[in-house]
Amino acid sequence: MENRKYIFVMGGVMSGVGKGITTSSIGAILKARGYKVTALKIDPYVNVDAGTMNPTEHGEVFVLDDGDETDQDMGNYERFMDITLSRDNYMTTGRVYESVIHRERNLEYAGKCVQVVPHIPLEVIDRIVHASNKDKSEITLIEIGGTVGEYENILFMEAIRMMKIKHPEDVLSVMVSYVPCPNMVGEMKTKPTQHAVRTVNAAGVQPDIIVARSEMPMDAKRKEKISNFCSVAEECVISAPDAKSVYEVITNFERDNLSKIILKKLRLKPKKSDLKEWEDLIKRVKGLDGKVKIGIVGKYFGTGDFVLSDAYISVIEAIKHAGYKVGVKTEMDWINSEIFEKDPEKIEELSEYDGILVPGGFGGRGIEGKIKAIKYCRENLIPYFGICYGMQLQVIEYARNVLGLGEAHTTEINRDTKHPVIDIMPEQKKNLEDGNYGATMRLGAYDAVLEKGTLAYDGYKKTKISERHRHRWEVNPKYIKQIEKAGLVFSGKSPDGKLMEIAELPKSQHPFFLGAQFHPEFKSSPLKSHPLFFEFVKASKTRSGKK
Ligand code: GLN
Repeated sequence: MENRKYIFVMGGVMSGVGKGITTSSIGAILKARGYKVTALKIDPYVNVDAGTMNPTEHGEVFVLDDGDETDQDMGNYERFMDITLSRDNYMTTGRVYESVIHRERNLEYAGKCVQVVPHIPLEVIDRIVHASNKDKSEITLIEIGGTVGEYENILFMEAIRMMKIKHPEDVLSVMVSYVPCPNMVGEMKTKPTQHAVRTVNAAGVQPDIIVARSEMPMDAKRKEKISNFCSVAEECVISAPDAKSVYEVITNFERDNLSKIILKKLRLKPKKSDLKEWEDLIKRVKGLDGKVKIGIVGKYFGTGDFVLSDAYISVIEAIKHAGYKVGVKTEMDWINSEIFEKDPEKIEELSEYDGILVPGGFGGRGIEGKIKAIKYCRENLIPYFGICYGMQLQVIEYARNVLGLGEAHTTEINRDTKHPVIDIMPEQKKNLEDGNYGATMRLGAYDAVLEKGTLAYDGYKKTKISERHRHRWEVNPKYIKQIEKAGLVFSGKSPDGKLMEIAELPKSQHPFFLGAQFHPEFKSSPLKSHPLFFEFVKASKTRSGKK
């Protein structure tokens, strides 16, 4: 393992309390102390990657430069630690078993009986060490998905146990727990945390640090209790109350000396901490003036009676980042596009918004409603930002209503359309015919070339860009000339000029009517807002000032 250090982060009590943010924030405070950090996410499901899951099931599919389709937490790691991750930083149960079986078929176990224990945890450890070596990181964070006590993640706990036995000074475990304060009791209860710790103890793992999530800061009494019952030093019980912005978790952790505690436990020198950029950002967020209202028109919102914005988490974050840079608060509303299909008059409600965004998507549900929304934005000069499907639908809208190709469509929805302005790429067609769905889209980073004098160029201020993709369909080359002639400008194209990457209306005609075939949201970060989101929010702010 050379001289590398490892921090495992696991969740106790329940999911959704901020394990990803905790992992990312620990990474940020260690990085601020001059250490080279990286992170891995372990997802316990059997899917080989997140690409085959419905967003309502799993949340956003976060795409990496190398095209790996991963979990939204990977986005947090990149944004908080300012690192670029690869498929080596992501594993699922499916992926781990796939490689063990592959090795077995290749006789790599030299005739041994290949067993769930130890071979599965050993493969997990191999992958962790490999990622850490590849990223040349001094401290590697490994987040284990799910909650302790689930059958699914027990083999990953086993990996922690095995690593810790061999390298007790190099491995640390952090449990992120939830400390509820039920109304009827009126006091914070530590019992669920105690149970969670007992559960991991049964798997042979003892947390070194407990990050206790709660609505309010935790008092000394509760800290003492957790310390006593969970065998963790009092200073290692970190209170993590709800924060106004997730980035405050970073400075909160530092205030509680978490980086010093971790470095001491890992026997590393506490170099001087520099969190100035984050401190400035938090100040800026607190001082935001005015507000823009952004409507996100999509379909993946419902899960039972709840609205699930997780499906678009990077889009939401990217809008917020742009707001920080522009200097306005950004308020977002979720608009289910199907309402415009059922009740066409409702489209007028879009005039309340300062900007409308149609994010990526698949399939036919709600798309006519989205196309109506895009038309409304074009005609009423409302800033419009289309991402991936949102760009394809923008081209369809333009072809139908400006070019007069009434039947223009994407062959994703209507294979026999008379005007397939959006069509499937030949190699993609083959994938679908062969039933070859997993990880076969056009995925990951591709270069594009921008045209000067356009909105896109205004944003990026350079002609060569690289952005992440996840799609099978494209603007049909047969229609490009016609569409351009009718006034829509393809301001970004693939370097060979064949694939349309950005479509926009000239600045003289519309304040911001732009769609990108790629997903800019995956490359936005709080300290470096994405240029297209920035231009969109800026245009939205201008509209809000005029209303
Ligand atoms: N469904 C479209 C395609 O596959 C758009 C995909 C997306 O928005 N991510 O091309």
